[in-house]
Amino acid sequence: MINEGKLLVVSGPSGTGKSTVVKLLVEKLDRLCLSVSATTRPPRESELEGREYYFVDHTEFERRIACGEMLEYASYNGNYYGTPRDKVEEWLGQGFDVLLEIEVQGAKKIKDQRADAVLIFLIPPSMEEAEARLRGRRSESEETLQKRLAIARQELEQAQYYDYIVVNETVEQAVEDIRSILRAEHLRYAGMKPFIAGLKAVPNSAE
Ligand code: ADP
Ligand code: 5GP
Repeated sequence: MINEGKLLVVSGPSGTGKSTVVKLLVEKLDRLCLSVSATTRPPRESELEGREYYFVDHTEFERRIACGEMLEYASYNGNYYGTPRDKVEEWLGQGFDVLLEIEVQGAKKIKDQRADAVLIFLIPPSMEEAEARLRGRRSESEETLQKRLAIARQELEQAQYYDYIVVNETVEQAVEDIRSILRAEHLRYAGMKPFIAGLKAVPNSAE
């Protein structure tokens, strides 16, 4: 039985492992669609246009904001990041679950627009481990790495606004935890109401 699609938001400090966890989760769940964000940050070596992000310049990003094409957007470490509106609305309308991997300001904007969005904050087992993971990724200069670590500490303060906290000790366990959250969210009374109404609508055989 499939009910309405859920909007899932995953945030967490840089280096926690969000992209890694989200990638495996989307591979495992066939009714979960991953929103591809737009950003003005330059692509990393491993990243492909349209797979990790749509890479656009400042002028184009601001045009998209002005035209109402962004469901939310935020500035992070000197660059714009935002969620294109069209696909998210299309997928939810078709009953798919949709996952946004976005930072904390954007997550708050989503919750303001849709109170039923499920906000998950992914945290590392320790900040030392987050730093080690970030260094291991070899994607940042020392300067941007330090800035990301500083933002990461500020972001931890925002954990209180999230519905669930998942610790990314191992990728497999974090994926299982998010999977359980999604399953439970689908079983909430509000979502199951139409199913119960359907049960009540069928008369007993004796009637
Ligand atoms: P984020 O998207 O949160 O910045 P990434 O997904 O890019 O983080 O992960 C940062 C680095 O940590 C990557 O090199 C990734 O392979 C590694 N990583 C992610 N999750 C784990 C984990 N549970 N244990 C060990 N390393 C991890
Ligand atoms: P990164 O440069 O590491 O890929 O992303 C930096 C931060 O921007 C991460 O916290 C990531 O979750 C966030 N981010 C990615 N896409 C979006 C988006 O569309 N909107 C917002 N608000 N944040 C995003």
